Amino acid sequence: MCGIFAYTGRKNAVPKVLEGLEKLEYRGYDSAGLALIDRKNRLKVIKTVGYVSQLSEEVFNRSRTLSGSIAIGHTRWATHGKVSKINAHPQVDCSKRVAVVHNGVIENFEELKKNLKNKGHRFISQTDTEVISHLIEEFLNEGYSFKTAFQKALGSLVGAWAVAVLSPLTPETLWLGRFSSPLAIGLTKEEIYVSSDSQAFPYNVKKVVFLEDGQLARLSLQNRKRVEIFNLKGKPVNYQLINKGLMEKVNLAKGEFPHFMLKEIFEQPLTVERGLRGRVDYSNKKVVLGGLRSVEEKLKEKEFIGLMACGTSLNAALVGRLFGVGALGLSVWSENSSDYSQLNLDKKILDRSAVFYISQSGETADTLSSLKLVQKETQALNLGIVNVVGSSLARRVEAGIYTRAGVEVGVAATKSFTNQLLALLLGLIYIGQLQGKQLVNQDKFFRELQLLPAIISKVLQEKEKIKATAGKLVEVKNFMFLGRHLAYPLALEGALKLKEISYRFSYGDSLGSLKHGPLAVISPENVVVAVIFSQEPELKKSISNIHEIVARQGRVVVISDLPMGEFPPAIEHFLPLSHLESLWLMPLVTSPVLQLLAYYLAVFLGREIDKPRYLAKSVTVI
Ligand code: GLU
Repeated sequence: MCGIFAYTGRKNAVPKVLEGLEKLEYRGYDSAGLALIDRKNRLKVIKTVGYVSQLSEEVFNRSRTLSGSIAIGHTRWATHGKVSKINAHPQVDCSKRVAVVHNGVIENFEELKKNLKNKGHRFISQTDTEVISHLIEEFLNEGYSFKTAFQKALGSLVGAWAVAVLSPLTPETLWLGRFSSPLAIGLTKEEIYVSSDSQAFPYNVKKVVFLEDGQLARLSLQNRKRVEIFNLKGKPVNYQLINKGLMEKVNLAKGEFPHFMLKEIFEQPLTVERGLRGRVDYSNKKVVLGGLRSVEEKLKEKEFIGLMACGTSLNAALVGRLFGVGALGLSVWSENSSDYSQLNLDKKILDRSAVFYISQSGETADTLSSLKLVQKETQALNLGIVNVVGSSLARRVEAGIYTRAGVEVGVAATKSFTNQLLALLLGLIYIGQLQGKQLVNQDKFFRELQLLPAIISKVLQEKEKIKATAGKLVEVKNFMFLGRHLAYPLALEGALKLKEISYRFSYGDSLGSLKHGPLAVISPENVVVAVIFSQEPELKKSISNIHEIVARQGRVVVISDLPMGEFPPAIEHFLPLSHLESLWLMPLVTSPVLQLLAYYLAVFLGREIDKPRYLAKSVTVI
């Protein structure tokens, strides 16, 4: 995952890079470092374990005068080698002529390392990244120019890499390369920025170039061309300058909220309103999606709708699948993109499918690699449901729907999940319209859809009750989230949220599976959180399941739009859900409740809410 940020310009590059890294910290935050060429043309490297703020302190303490016009920086999420100062990036070669920051995984690093060691290179870290600096050094030793050495080194790598390289041999140049991990170049009149995520560029950056797979770049303000992009063979390639005006500004202020996660949970009435704006014709009960218009003809022909996603986005996909099948009569399948390969690729189905790839960041490595496979092997129509405008996924699909959740800083997905649900509902209704499928009970659905932002505001007013419930669960070590039908993916998402930020063991399962195993672990030490919708297909069975749990001294929290009296008095806590006439909108009013439950539990446990341990916001490494 990791964040890369680099700068060259007239200003001091050190604070510029530190500022950029702060904004990228959501990508990884176990250690950080930077390298610069100082005013005397010396390569300086500073690294720390911990957050970017610790790196800033280190820079300030060690060398207040540290200054130069070119620097690269990194915030790490370790894949190879423990979290330590030595393993933090930049990684340098033996002669300290090449500093590398890297995002990704070098799959053949062991073999490369062995060869380089045989040639006398000394390795000091356990990272896969270090092979890159030694490889460049090796090619330089063989007499190649820096450009050729860089090309040859990157050409030897197998795996995923976004790299930025700095060398006192080419003191005015930033070298970049990309394969699978994202990297963008931002330009102002007098400066060049580089970032793993274009949203981290400052506001004065107006033009952006996204590197594509297999592309390398040489950036220098001294060169008339400033940006030169070439392939692994050194042949120049054309590139497109994209207007950053089209992208969103990052709002890094938490405002009145103690954490970004809470702020983002409370933004949901607004983000849902934004996700709906201009997309629904309420009087004619029609959905209008400009992002899919260009593929309308193709959509009419596709017999299947595929949903490809992982993590939280997969939970949204599961809701989408049930909705498409149950409310529209569409044939919808879903797949976990983290576990997708040639072996589960069903060409016959895919050729006849329109596939939505769902990702908040649009940089999720698992989902991008599924897209690549499907694009290569099939005739599927590939579409995106993405939050980040201009992200890799958004650029690689034929058309799509932006979720419009706005920038999400907290690592745990909240508003982005709710807006994914919304985008899925709208996308599927739109395809239904094109294929002549009528939405079941559409009057109720559209009436409540319009009211959704207000309903979610009301749900959020229940926060004190949810907080009090969380307060009573602080001692509980294990949670089991259960739900049936449409409540099942919500149970999965509730369990995911809770484990992500509270570090308590929690898992999600179908309430229907209770007697197939989960019942065996019912005990007063474990808590069941049951999500039950009054209109779910087998409601009576769900209520019986709760009786079965309490009969075995199980502790239960029920989250439901039914009156509390419908459940056995032995349940321990009851969190009411707003009752909607349309079952299909229930997930959107349930997700904020599950998010708040996880949030408050984690707060009571004193966890690092916005940056949970071992996780990062966008998973750019498989
Ligand atoms: N593989 C590199 C490391 O462990 C980079 C990790 C990443 O991009 O997540 O340091």
